[in-house]
Amino acid sequence: MTIANDIQTEQSYVFQASVDKLGPQVTEGKGIYITIEKDGKIHKNVLDAITGAAVGALGWGDEEALEIMDKSARASTYSYPCLISNKSSEALAKFYIENSPEGAFSAALWCSSGSESNENALRIMRQYYLERGLPNKVKLMSRESSYHGFTLGAQSMSWNPRVEPFEPYLMDRKKINIKIPCAYTYRYKKEEETEEDYARRLIDDLENKIVSNDPDTIAAVVVETLPGSSLGTTPPPKGYLKGIRELCNKYDIIFYLDEVMCGTGRCNPNGRLNCWENYLDPCDAPDIQTVGKTLGSGYVPIAGVLIGPKIKNAFLNGSKAVVGGHTYSCHAFCCGVALGVQQKIKRENLTSNVFKMGNLMGEKLKNTLLAKSNIVGDVRGVGGFWSVEFVKNRETKEPFDISLGVGPRFKAVCFDNGLSVMGMPGNPDGSCGDRALLAPSFIITEEVVDDIVGKMVKSVAELTDELK
Ligand code: PLP
Repeated sequence: MTIANDIQTEQSYVFQASVDKLGPQVTEGKGIYITIEKDGKIHKNVLDAITGAAVGALGWGDEEALEIMDKSARASTYSYPCLISNKSSEALAKFYIENSPEGAFSAALWCSSGSESNENALRIMRQYYLERGLPNKVKLMSRESSYHGFTLGAQSMSWNPRVEPFEPYLMDRKKINIKIPCAYTYRYKKEEETEEDYARRLIDDLENKIVSNDPDTIAAVVVETLPGSSLGTTPPPKGYLKGIRELCNKYDIIFYLDEVMCGTGRCNPNGRLNCWENYLDPCDAPDIQTVGKTLGSGYVPIAGVLIGPKIKNAFLNGSKAVVGGHTYSCHAFCCGVALGVQQKIKRENLTSNVFKMGNLMGEKLKNTLLAKSNIVGDVRGVGGFWSVEFVKNRETKEPFDISLGVGPRFKAVCFDNGLSVMGMPGNPDGSCGDRALLAPSFIITEEVVDDIVGKMVKSVAELTDELK
């Protein structure tokens, strides 16, 4: 079983990604471009079309962000949130709640990574049902191929093949986590079906699984609104999320969205923070939502759990105390920086910019790669979040054998052409092909869009030759 994505060169002291070799190292970043040191050579002006891991909303070295960091560091006094709160974490929670549809959320908890946010959400859900005197509601329902992070609880929630080798340390997923189909229109919508029919089929299947697994034991349905690293920005078919919301209402189940990668402004215009706002009415908001990545735009490690009124009220009507807390939860400095970053994004309406430019990039990729390349099967996404899926055969959608490492190889070809993208391997069982993931900074311009598209076209042509 392959766990790591790709192999690089030279000895590394950092126990991460590749332990025996040293890969490219970023040495500097300004705006959308980064400088990389690789094999002793300096590569300047590499276009960062993935912003780390869909993180850098403001671009690198943003002067205002650096000033915010300085101010925030001077203003921050560390506090242990179980004993004493701090103003920055309160202000950030207020900002997120006020900039979400009215009534969607009523509290937030801040932590340091997306994985941790999902761990915290699990713990909060458990306590929620205990507060209500429903101790048997423990099972999760999460989707094939899903990815919710690499801590053990978050892995237990996931069905991505990368999780399998860690099975002995995970929660008993056969008992606790019921696998439900992913929503993957490109591969699984039947030709004769409309998008709505496909969504209906998925919802009917979900309802059957809820009923056959005893709804009184089911805690939550967990879905990535727009899966990123798992399936590659595949948008939910029309009516799908609404259908899940309705089933959750019907069977008293938490509707839980993971927006760590797709949320916090990456996929919506007009300052709208939540990706689900593209697909759901405000009254259908999730009960719990996890966020991360663009929240701190890479300037600070921060992620969070947003909590809907139903859950907060159960605590208010119950013990009034949230059990558990981490030393660095709601860290004043990180919350202060994230707030400043989000205020700047809002003031400059950068969400509308990335929405418009990202969609333009998507259209141009469709018109070039999808229309003309033999190895590109699909180009999909929304706003600032796009994927290209590679296939061996466009007619049958047969993926490449994963031993060819097409996704990681594409990343390497792009790098040689001065473009940084995420190259993801396909699933070993062929249920998903290799992908390239694009998540540019919110400050992207039309000129940069053209630069990305040009470099993608060149890189796909070179990879096609390499694969012959
Ligand atoms: N959830 C989703 C949907 C993600 O895409 C990721 C990371 O890519 C995570 C959770 C985990 O976040 P982190 O890497 O910050 O722990």
